[in-house]
Amino acid sequence: MREIFKPLFGNERLKKTLGEAIETGAASHAYILDGPKGSGKHTAATLAAAALACEHRTDEKYPLPCGVCPVCGRIIKGISADLIVVSKEDKASIGVGKIRAIREDLYVTPNDSDKKVYVIEDADLMTAQAQNALLISLEEPPPFVTFFLLTENAEALLDTIKSRAVTLRMELFSPERIKEFLSGISQPGKTVPDLEERYESAIEGSNGSLGEAKRIFTDFGSKDDNFSETIKQFSAMLVKGKTSDALEIITPYLSDGFETAKKS
Ligand SMILES: [Zn+2]
Repeated sequence: MREIFKPLFGNERLKKTLGEAIETGAASHAYILDGPKGSGKHTAATLAAAALACEHRTDEKYPLPCGVCPVCGRIIKGISADLIVVSKEDKASIGVGKIRAIREDLYVTPNDSDKKVYVIEDADLMTAQAQNALLISLEEPPPFVTFFLLTENAEALLDTIKSRAVTLRMELFSPERIKEFLSGISQPGKTVPDLEERYESAIEGSNGSLGEAKRIFTDFGSKDDNFSETIKQFSAMLVKGKTSDALEIITPYLSDGFETAKKS
């Protein structure tokens, strides 16, 4: 059997539906990918974009996407101008301006292949005005365009948007499957400290989402490690009487918690 969307763990139903539609040229012009943070929406959309453009999309001898033709390779690497990602950036919502920009660009023919894909991240955060503006593009896009609307809450999208797109839900995983996935990402031969505790913490905090599980598993203990190191430096500065240096060391932890300190 042909391998479809191999880098995406699980999600067999989604892979089959989307993969077969792309293979047979029957893909919808718009999909909503619905699932929590870390559930693989980006991976799925990128692989689908690559598959749509892949030179070997109808050739069963290759996986879908093949990953070796220049066209789908560029999409997977994130360097293709035919994969356009729209995000809210640092704003709270996606305004109508961004959607109008899509409309202006919509009929411009693709660069690398015969397909062009728009991915709208956090699509449920489009303002009502933005969603209404998008409707026009969703109704009759040029044949070379496919939309992927990524959302953690498809219910929040306008009914008119939902009715013009095919909704696919990302798979949520059982604790056993999450453990299987995590054991696959730990480096073979390398001992991981507190392994069982890490698994437990990742499974518990993930709500079935693999990306979240991976993040918690990888970050496990790092905040504490950073913090205890900081406390050591802080004490050393105090002992030396360098109060202002000591304060500077702990300032990141005083602003808005550990997350800020970790990022900086
Ligand atoms: Zn290819």
